[in-house]
Amino acid sequence: MFCDVSGCIFCRIVAGTAPSTRVYEDDTLCAFLDIRPITRGHTLVIPKRHATDLDDLDPELGARIFTLGHRLAKAVRRGELAADGANLVLNDGKAAFQTVHHVHLHVVPRRHGDRLTFAKGFLLRRPHDTETTAAAIRAGLDRLETEENRP
Ligand code: 5GP
Ligand code: ZN
Repeated sequence: MFCDVSGCIFCRIVAGTAPSTRVYEDDTLCAFLDIRPITRGHTLVIPKRHATDLDDLDPELGARIFTLGHRLAKAVRRGELAADGANLVLNDGKAAFQTVHHVHLHVVPRRHGDRLTFAKGFLLRRPHDTETTAAAIRAGLDRLETEENRP
């Protein structure tokens, strides 16, 4: 399948040649704040290796992407962001409104009764205080790990 990796903004983020506010990284995955968030803490999980869409994605990597999305959804419930839930969304292909053609899973934190804020955020897509937001998500991930390691 054709993919113009050199022109891919998410590949450039992985390579560090385009800026991003990262919240998590390992050998195969990277998670960073969406530049135009719907809600505070809106994060994208991507494979480091370019895959254009689900047809192009190794299923094991797909499972890892979801696992990290799952952890982030739990992390944003912990600490300062105090989410009550999250929307996990993957737009697969142009027909499904995928605009960046490097697979990514959206993790969009939600609060009880946030319907109006969500609708406004969906229209305006304005960034929040990125550094404190990213720090809150990282702290949530740390808290989650502490909970998991508790005997
Ligand atoms: P899609 O519609 O393809 O599922 O969503 C692509 C997402 O990527 C959008 O939410 C958009 O705001 C985000 N995005 C596009 N370009 C950049 C960028 O350069 N940096 C970051 N952090 N997010 C981006
Ligand atoms: Zn790419």
